[in-house]
Amino acid sequence: MGLTVSQYDALMREYDRTRLAHKRQLDDRYAEIYSKIPRIKEINDTISSISIQGAKKMLLEGTGTLEDIKAEIEALSKEKASLLRQNGYSEDYLAMEYTCSKCQDTGYIGQSKCNCLKNSIIEILYEQSNIKEILEKENFSTFSFGHYDNQTRDSITNLTPLENMHDVVKTCREYIDNFKTDYRSLYLYGPTGVGKTFLTNCIAKELIENSNSVIYVSSIRLFEILANNTFKKNDNLEGKDLADNILDCDLLIIDDLGTEMVNSFTASALFNCINERHLRRKSVIISTNLSLAELRSTYSERVFSRITSNYTLLKIYGDDLRMKLR
Ligand SMILES: [Zn+2]
Repeated sequence: MGLTVSQYDALMREYDRTRLAHKRQLDDRYAEIYSKIPRIKEINDTISSISIQGAKKMLLEGTGTLEDIKAEIEALSKEKASLLRQNGYSEDYLAMEYTCSKCQDTGYIGQSKCNCLKNSIIEILYEQSNIKEILEKENFSTFSFGHYDNQTRDSITNLTPLENMHDVVKTCREYIDNFKTDYRSLYLYGPTGVGKTFLTNCIAKELIENSNSVIYVSSIRLFEILANNTFKKNDNLEGKDLADNILDCDLLIIDDLGTEMVNSFTASALFNCINERHLRRKSVIISTNLSLAELRSTYSERVFSRITSNYTLLKIYGDDLRMKLR
């Protein structure tokens, strides 16, 4: 997926460290419980010997059944759970904990990469570790409606910027809640400084935390990656893998569409990118200053029609918040 061997090894060592840390914590919990409730040690020892003895009996002597063994172990497990409860512990106190329960901190589910691993790879490939810092500051818990004007009404929607923003945020929240089940893409447009990027950051944070693979890329960088891939400027694997990830991640966020140098290549590359993702039913969020009319004249009819027919269009308006906050 485009990592160097040493980058990949470093990631895998990180998984090893995580598992080891959880294992140590579990050992500590066992030591604590064994000293406080010795009966639980007896039970665990009995369970291991029942398993071994039972298997021996069945295999060598042909006596006993799997059901007998299961029943005996189940009774002991119940006793163990109730002892833990009586002593004020949760029943799963002696269960292994995982940072990512999906892959049990291995990075893989069967042969395929878990999303936690995909995200770590994306982070390295796109140098997106700085995005984490941004997302710490720009997320729904820090989002404020306070700066939006509630006086002036839009001539078309008759909503004030504040009322409109409430609707937009509601749509974004629904988008996050239904992300796994509903395939949907968003086109956020409006003038500079009305909070589009802030809003895409809010969405990115929530979806990354729900372990989706999210690539956040400025439109300038997006076209660089696509051009390098098309014209094979960098003939290494990394360039190809970057482009593959652009097409395959769970969510692609294209920030500030229209700020790149627009030419015939960008128009067709943009169409191919959003069309391919559409065929794969992978979501895209585009944020841009371009109105729909400008979108049509800047790119192509195909881009315009793909976006207007498949994307949820969210217009954000109001004063430039950055001026207000100065
Ligand atoms: Zn995982």
